[in-house]
Amino acid sequence: MAKRIVEGLWNCRYCGTKGIGGLTKSCPCCGHPQDEGTRFYLGNKKKYLEKDLAAQYGQGPDWLCPYCGSLNRIRFKYCSNCGAEKDSAEDDYFTNQDKQDKKEAEKEAELKKLTGKDKKGSGKSGKGGDISKKQKMPLRKKLLIISAAVLAFFAVLLFIFWPRNYNATVGGTGWAREIDIEAWRTVQEDDWQVPDGGRVYDTKEEIHHYVQVLDHYETKTREVSERVYDGEDTHTSYVNNGDGTFTEETYSTPRYRTEYHTETYREPVYRDEPVFAIKYYYEIERWVVDREEKSEGADSEPYWPEYTLAANERTGFRGEAYTMGIYVKDKSYTVSLPLERWETFQKGDQIEVTMSAGQITKINGEELES
Ligand SMILES: [Zn+2]
Ligand SMILES: [Zn+2]
Repeated sequence: MAKRIVEGLWNCRYCGTKGIGGLTKSCPCCGHPQDEGTRFYLGNKKKYLEKDLAAQYGQGPDWLCPYCGSLNRIRFKYCSNCGAEKDSAEDDYFTNQDKQDKKEAEKEAELKKLTGKDKKGSGKSGKGGDISKKQKMPLRKKLLIISAAVLAFFAVLLFIFWPRNYNATVGGTGWAREIDIEAWRTVQEDDWQVPDGGRVYDTKEEIHHYVQVLDHYETKTREVSERVYDGEDTHTSYVNNGDGTFTEETYSTPRYRTEYHTETYREPVYRDEPVFAIKYYYEIERWVVDREEKSEGADSEPYWPEYTLAANERTGFRGEAYTMGIYVKDKSYTVSLPLERWETFQKGDQIEVTMSAGQITKINGEELES
């Protein structure tokens, strides 16, 4: 960080001379001194003070003489304009500026009250309103279109699934029953261990599972990015010293750029290696399904199939199904019913069915179990 003192400029309020050097305490045209209305500013061309002179500035802001209102250097004990003695309670350049700013703000506020308008403010808020409206309109339209599409989608779903009632005729009834006949037999099985009662007749070494084993490395390339130092960015700021000068502070920050390059890396490649174990082949007695006994009919008199059991046999799974054919407006449908419900219908019965999405969901107002 480097510091340099720059001479500021000021304008004479009395004769209108502009761009007077900050170190010139009185106007060179009319002789009026820098006073409570003086504002120091920076010119486009920077005039840097020589080392010796620079050392005398930036020590503190000028003080304001309460008698003649002129600005004086901090080290002066007496006003260079009227000779009045400096008092520790006096305003300096900055505290005086704050007071002047407040006064101006009060004046403006009073003016606003009188005219009843805030020209700057109303202009700004009007523009802001226009912009926000323009940005929101397309979003609102989009939302409207999306919600309309969603609504239409659900309307179609509702139309398809909305239940409707129809008069229908029972076209016929059907039933089917089945009994599995199981036999106690010697069967052959194989497994990694032998259950109780199993009689091993063979063993083999077989693949039990696989494990991943590192086989080799493959060399591959990839793009990588890197932050590279790319020199310094210089920043400059100016601080008003309140004594007709400004302190220029320069500092630099490092700048980086992103560079890409390819790098090679090694990627492991694995292979599946089998793990062997002993597999047992054995004989054992199990209940196995030997045959299915079936009965069926297109009437309303279901019965279980007849069967005979050998000494080593038993009955297993029993299955049953009851169906009904229904005519709805020239179309035929088949539904499955539990026995108790199926028994209450006869061929030719007039019934009412409820349909939804092309399927019968209710018969005579009673839900079908799906
Ligand atoms: Zn002047
Ligand atoms: Zn004075």
